Amino acid sequence: MLADITAHGQVRIAIVQTGSLPLPTARPRSSLPVRVLDVVAEAGIRILRTHPAYDHDALDRADVVIGLGAGVPADAYGELDGLRGQWGAELAATRKVTDTGALAHGRQLGVTGRSVAPRLYLAIAVSGSRDHLVGVERARTIVAINHDPEAPIFQHCDFGLVADWREAVRALTTRGASRPAGDMFARS
Ligand SMILES: Cc1cc2nc3c(=O)[nH]c(=O)nc-3n(C[C@H](O)[C@H](O)[C@H](O)COP(=O)(O)OP(=O)(O)OC[C@H]3O[C@@H](n4cnc5c(N)ncnc54)[C@H](O)[C@@H]3O)c2cc1C
Repeated sequence: MLADITAHGQVRIAIVQTGSLPLPTARPRSSLPVRVLDVVAEAGIRILRTHPAYDHDALDRADVVIGLGAGVPADAYGELDGLRGQWGAELAATRKVTDTGALAHGRQLGVTGRSVAPRLYLAIAVSGSRDHLVGVERARTIVAINHDPEAPIFQHCDFGLVADWREAVRALTTRGASRPAGDMFARS
């Protein structure tokens, strides 16, 4: 997608949010003329800092994304390793989590984070604020674990487990041992 943007004033900020639009279907191939241009890069953009610790594409490619909310303490993330390994899942989080630095900002889903479209999104101890949900609404199936039956996330998921997350994760890890994530929560 191309856009012409005119900015007036000194401060210019561009925010690029990947995955927020559906992928367009490719046009039929045609042979276009190719012209090689000798272009000199403009010095208008300077890279001040990069964050190499984060693989930007991993979340976009993931079939299963596990979203962590503030109800999961950072020192307990290891307890999710079994489930993550079984499902080949990528970790993401709410802003409340990334603000603490427990996960990188690049893993934040939502209005000021990224949008993903996995086959399965498992929200663990996520309350379900609108700010967060806009980042996961294209997931094919949303499963939520929360011990509060009134949590808003239950209004926006396909399957909801009212339970302590530790108990639920243990049960999913045991039951799902021989099944792919998608089969476990299959919708017709
Ligand atoms: C301008 C602005 C932009 C924002 N952008 C984003 C954004 O992009 N993405 C985003 O996510 N947020 C964003 N937010 C923040 C958003 O409004 C919410 O505050 C945030 O999403 C809540 O995060 P949370 O669900 O992790 O935490 P909480 O709302 O605190 O929810 C924690 C949940 O964990 C549950 N829980 C606790 N312990 C357990 C347990 N043992 N077992 C099971 N469940 C448990 C609780 O019942 C609760 O529902 C933004 C806010 C503002 C103001």
